[in-house]
Amino acid sequence: MTSSQVEENNHSDLLGYYNPAFFDMYLNTERDEVFVHEYTHYIQNISTVHGLIHFAYKKIYWLEKFIGCTHPLYNEIQNLCHQKKSLMDHMSEAIGNVKNYPYKSIVVENVNLLWNYKYKEKYDVEILKSVTLDLKVDGDKKSIVFGYKIIKENMARIMQNHFYPINNPSKSTTYYIVEDVVKSYHPNFPINPQNLFALCDIALLFTSDSTQMFFKLLDFCKENNKEYHIKDGTITVTKKIKAA
Ligand SMILES: [Zn+2]
Repeated sequence: MTSSQVEENNHSDLLGYYNPAFFDMYLNTERDEVFVHEYTHYIQNISTVHGLIHFAYKKIYWLEKFIGCTHPLYNEIQNLCHQKKSLMDHMSEAIGNVKNYPYKSIVVENVNLLWNYKYKEKYDVEILKSVTLDLKVDGDKKSIVFGYKIIKENMARIMQNHFYPINNPSKSTTYYIVEDVVKSYHPNFPINPQNLFALCDIALLFTSDSTQMFFKLLDFCKENNKEYHIKDGTITVTKKIKAA
């Protein structure tokens, strides 16, 4: 769980949470699996491009929104905030609007990628504006935003389950949906916890826009017909050999 859930929930309801803006971890339990989960968020925060940029944006956002700094020292930060207001709003919306549905059965009916082609002609760059998922959650139609929070939470949950396996987990979209999204988007992707963890980690590693990287990686796997093997922390890419 992250600080975003803190904004939506009462702190005392959570077993633990991690605040990316302050490198703070809070535990309301002595259960080791909660520590492993929150510690994974800390590692995401300090070891990935997404984590470091998120830290900077969150810091600026908090300074502007909650402290309302007027000291001259903060002028530059305030100016940056106003110039980048849409970015700040986007960051806060992406955190606050994630819906978490518990489920026994789930079907990913559509993965909707909304692209911005504004810079396509001039720079040959496409920007992924948003990803929404059309789901059947225990038979009911639902729609949720797929964003970096889901990537981070699935990664933390996989790490937690690796050390503290659960036989019959109670699943929910925020913590478990990545596997079903990958199955829907790239049915031939070799699904196992290590590969899903690596996919999420790479998505966070190289860019602040981890959602776009997540789907670009899957596109790359599809287009190049490669197989990925992970051993001893190293990802090996091999060309898939077609049977004669
Ligand atoms: Zn978490």
